[in-house]
Amino acid sequence: MRINSERLLGDMRKLATFGKDGSGVHRLAFSKADMLAREWLSSRMSEGGLDPILDGVGNVHGKTRATTRSVLIGSHTDTVPHGGWLDGAMGVIYGLEVARCWREQGDLNLGGVDVISFQDEEGAYLSCLGSRSFFGEVKSEEIQTASNSEGEPLSEMIRLAGLSGRALARHDPEREIAYLEGHIEQGPQLESQGVRIGVVTGIVGIRRFTITIVGQADHAGTTPMSMRKDAVAVLMELGTRLFQDFRNLGSPETVWNLGNIVISPGAANVVPAKAELSVEFRDTTPEVLTRLEAAVAEAIGHLAASSPCVVESRPVLNLEPAAMDPALGRALHQAAEDHGLSHMAMPSGAGHDAMVCSRHLPSAMLFVPSIGGRSHDVAEHTADEDIVNGAQVLLTAVQALLGHEPNFLGHGK
Ligand SMILES: [Zn+2]
Repeated sequence: MRINSERLLGDMRKLATFGKDGSGVHRLAFSKADMLAREWLSSRMSEGGLDPILDGVGNVHGKTRATTRSVLIGSHTDTVPHGGWLDGAMGVIYGLEVARCWREQGDLNLGGVDVISFQDEEGAYLSCLGSRSFFGEVKSEEIQTASNSEGEPLSEMIRLAGLSGRALARHDPEREIAYLEGHIEQGPQLESQGVRIGVVTGIVGIRRFTITIVGQADHAGTTPMSMRKDAVAVLMELGTRLFQDFRNLGSPETVWNLGNIVISPGAANVVPAKAELSVEFRDTTPEVLTRLEAAVAEAIGHLAASSPCVVESRPVLNLEPAAMDPALGRALHQAAEDHGLSHMAMPSGAGHDAMVCSRHLPSAMLFVPSIGGRSHDVAEHTADEDIVNGAQVLLTAVQALLGHEPNFLGHGK
């Protein structure tokens, strides 16, 4: 089975005209551009032999007609402010194209391909709103209290978009046997290693803390070094130690960031009275995250006991890693192999709708190279050939999945 590359690229370029922003796209969830894009997507689904609905939170869900069993393929069509044209959008059009190809060239008796564009993955109002709603994870209070950075309430945006009272698209465990998502890598690894297809092993979990060090402000000229309660001296020691610990205790895939440091009073001639430091680390393995968290606690305990300052840590974010389904991963590797495309297993350092989906049904993700690793910016781009390759690999994997025994999936999880 072959992808129709002209139709695929044509639809992607058309979708990029909604909210066009130079070489990128500005299409925030529930904006006019976003809602127009969703209407356009619905009509393309109808033309492609799917029955689309625009649901009560803005998800566009298209089921292949006359089928009772399906592989669900999708992603999101909302973007970050002044974002790229591929993040999310590519994965949705992949779904549309694979669904069309399966209808034209496949066997609908074996099942079909359903397509979804989840709403607000990027979290203008509520991160992964659409996918969480699809799996019944969103409480109505969350919708009532969420608002964007301008303070505009989500409930009001839903009303203004004309979605109030619409039914919610919901996961059907009898129908959907797997979720697949194609996405740009949004990082430099595939390009720098010259590999065409990335198969995601898991989506990283995140632990984030704010560490506060409280000392005492004094005259920086008259206070002897031995008598100072210098918050920055402790901060520097802590930072160095954490970098060492993370390097020693993390996996080869672990990443970390001490991304924000605030020092007060912040004057050249005053001994710093207070320092605040953000610490974040990510990995796909829960044990690694636990180990690094223990290292942070130990470093803080050590400095609190050995320095003249008060050192405390407060957890800010705790996101569990999401494992992708190994059987689906093998199907993606095999499909890449079938097409003579180089492929590698890799973690995803960014969050995706597949993270939510993997909690409810076997899920997998495929990456294609991002030029220069750029993303969340209008500079985001991927070569046409790589875009087509990704869709082709998905189609071949779907062929294998729908042709297989129903209990093929979910094993070895
Ligand atoms: Zn995305």
